[in-house]
Amino acid sequence: MAGKVTLVGAGPGDPGLLTVKGLWALEQAEVVVYDRLVSPAVLSLIPASAQRIDVGKEASHHPVPQDGINRILLKEARAGRNVVRLKGGDPFVFGRGGEELQVLAAGGVDFEEVPGITSAVAAAAYGGIPVTHRDFASSVHFVTAHARAGTALNIDFEALVRTRGTLVFLMGVTALPVIAEGLLSAGMDPDVPAAMVENGTLPQQRRCLSTLSNLERRAAEMGIRSPALLIVGGVCSLSEELCWFERLPLHGRRILVTRPVDRAGTLSEKLRALGADVVGFPCIRTEAIRPCPAMEEALGRLSAYEWLGFTSAAGVEAFWSCLRDMGKDARALGGVKLAAVGPATGRALTARGLAADLVPEFCDAAHMGAALANVAGGRVLLLRAEEGTPALTNALEAAGIACDDVSVYRTIYNNPRSAELRREIEAGRFDYVTFTSASTVKGLVFAVGPDADFTRITGLCIGEQTAGEAKRHGLFVQVAERAAIDALVELAVKTADGGLCI
Ligand code: SAH
Repeated sequence: MAGKVTLVGAGPGDPGLLTVKGLWALEQAEVVVYDRLVSPAVLSLIPASAQRIDVGKEASHHPVPQDGINRILLKEARAGRNVVRLKGGDPFVFGRGGEELQVLAAGGVDFEEVPGITSAVAAAAYGGIPVTHRDFASSVHFVTAHARAGTALNIDFEALVRTRGTLVFLMGVTALPVIAEGLLSAGMDPDVPAAMVENGTLPQQRRCLSTLSNLERRAAEMGIRSPALLIVGGVCSLSEELCWFERLPLHGRRILVTRPVDRAGTLSEKLRALGADVVGFPCIRTEAIRPCPAMEEALGRLSAYEWLGFTSAAGVEAFWSCLRDMGKDARALGGVKLAAVGPATGRALTARGLAADLVPEFCDAAHMGAALANVAGGRVLLLRAEEGTPALTNALEAAGIACDDVSVYRTIYNNPRSAELRREIEAGRFDYVTFTSASTVKGLVFAVGPDADFTRITGLCIGEQTAGEAKRHGLFVQVAERAAIDALVELAVKTADGGLCI
């Protein structure tokens, strides 16, 4: 089959600003050739099955020269592969996208282009600067401040000043003095508002506001570095009023999200939407115990039980596949009632056409035990993790309820040791770490080493049991009001707000 290259604009950094069509293209890709400006959050959307080729360009240092990139694109497409060429922002806005497509056209390779959201508009927007506004500017001009190798900057400053429009310079950090001087010499008002937005749309975004004549000094004080957008014009005066992004409750907070491999990233997404810089660290995975004679035996005499209790979606999965392997289906349950520890476990049941008869008000093992103890008369079968907490069985025992506690899956702490993560934790580079179960605490400790110093990071814990495990390792902890993801997110906001003292 003939290969193809899809040139995709990755947007300015915030993964939410990748277009739907761009995401579709990525999901189909067999090879992804990407640049330095594509953010890690967007790169994480590349399917694991696709080969990644990094041709990233550092300023004035081209690891893979343009010729080399062209050759890679031609070669991969001619080998019949579905190639995505991923570029920061919009590929046709100072992205050499046109040049690359000309090479493909000349080489007889099929191609498509998926425009992206350019940083020239989006970084300004996240900095509270609309590039046009009827009170200030009726045109906007995108200018590159990067000269072709060996040539001087060639900008017609007089023409730009005459437009009276908003001027947006890309690649302008080094050339800022030349640009400011050029505009001033061409007669621009030295007091015209000007701004730089560094790392626009990313959690690390910084903004520097000044006037044209003072911007260079202010940017130097703040140490503004590439990538940054330089914006000159009256619209910059709106920045303070409109800078919604930096006012998000978790802006500027760096949060380590530990979670099981393969669990949907809803927690990360919610924290990110509130402005947090989220670093995902999948530190555990669950593995069904197979074969599992104890479960087979129990499922063989299901009618002996009044209740079947699940404390996680993994338990439901293990149960369901064991039942299937035994040649049975949901009918085997007959009149057995079902208990789920919380909504996520309940959803795992619903997905299999089963409805939980009991979900405790608070989603943890102790509350589930108490709730079951209230309603159960007959025998209870628990299908849960190896090393499940005794809080559940104790509650049942105390109520005199007979119970079989069967381990159906185990937790694997599978992360390679991470010296880098340890250094960052010890250096206080994270504000918080989220823990959604005691095993995620154990997983993190396993990955960075039990002797690591955790005192510079606050653990945001889903419940008391999780918090207990975190405290054992010297973390400061905060505990969510309910054992639910939303409550954990609320806890992050409250802690960041200083509403909770640590
Ligand atoms: N095709 C890209 C621009 C590539 S030129 C686009 O449409 O956005 C590289 C320049 O883009 C950088 O030097 C910087 O000026 C700007 N830029 C890219 N990403 C940026 C970001 N996240 N924040 C601010 N400026 C950015």
